[in-house]
Amino acid sequence: MIGATGVGKTSLVRQFVQSIFSEKYHSTIGVKVDKKVVRVEDREVTMMLWDLQGEDDEFKIRPSFLRGSSGYLLVIDLTRYETLEVANLIQRMIETEYGKIPFYVLFNKNDLTEDIEITEEQINNFIGDSGKVMLTSAKTGENVEEAFYKLAKDII
Ligand code: GDP
Repeated sequence: MIGATGVGKTSLVRQFVQSIFSEKYHSTIGVKVDKKVVRVEDREVTMMLWDLQGEDDEFKIRPSFLRGSSGYLLVIDLTRYETLEVANLIQRMIETEYGKIPFYVLFNKNDLTEDIEITEEQINNFIGDSGKVMLTSAKTGENVEEAFYKLAKDII
């Protein structure tokens, strides 16, 4: 799970792993690791989900966080344009350091329709035509299972 602080990384994992959602904001420093077993076609896949918590600058200091990971979900907060810019920087850093590994870009908080700051055009421009974009909500659960499942499938 990568992306700027507060975009919903922890909430997405929580929704996926335990299917619950908490409004309470809590930010910790460190890495949280969760586990979930998913079925992809006829295989059982154990996903270890690494949720890096901390400052947005963390990636400049510790790009090694991603070493050894099979894929990632890059999360953007639809209600904060600056999180798209952070995602842009992170994405470029990852491609430089690690080349191409499977990922999806999640435009999260899609339930907050009134507050959306990022246009459809900006979404389309962000990732070109690779089609690896999903609109999600950790609150309603929209596309949450799908995002992790599709990532697992691409990794396999
Ligand atoms: P992280 O720093 O990226 O791990 O972000 P968190 O998961 O801690 O979420 C930051 C804040 O946004 C919290 O108050 C969450 O309750 C809220 N939040 C996260 N995802 C959503 C969402 O999809 N919809 C809404 N309405 N709030 C969300």
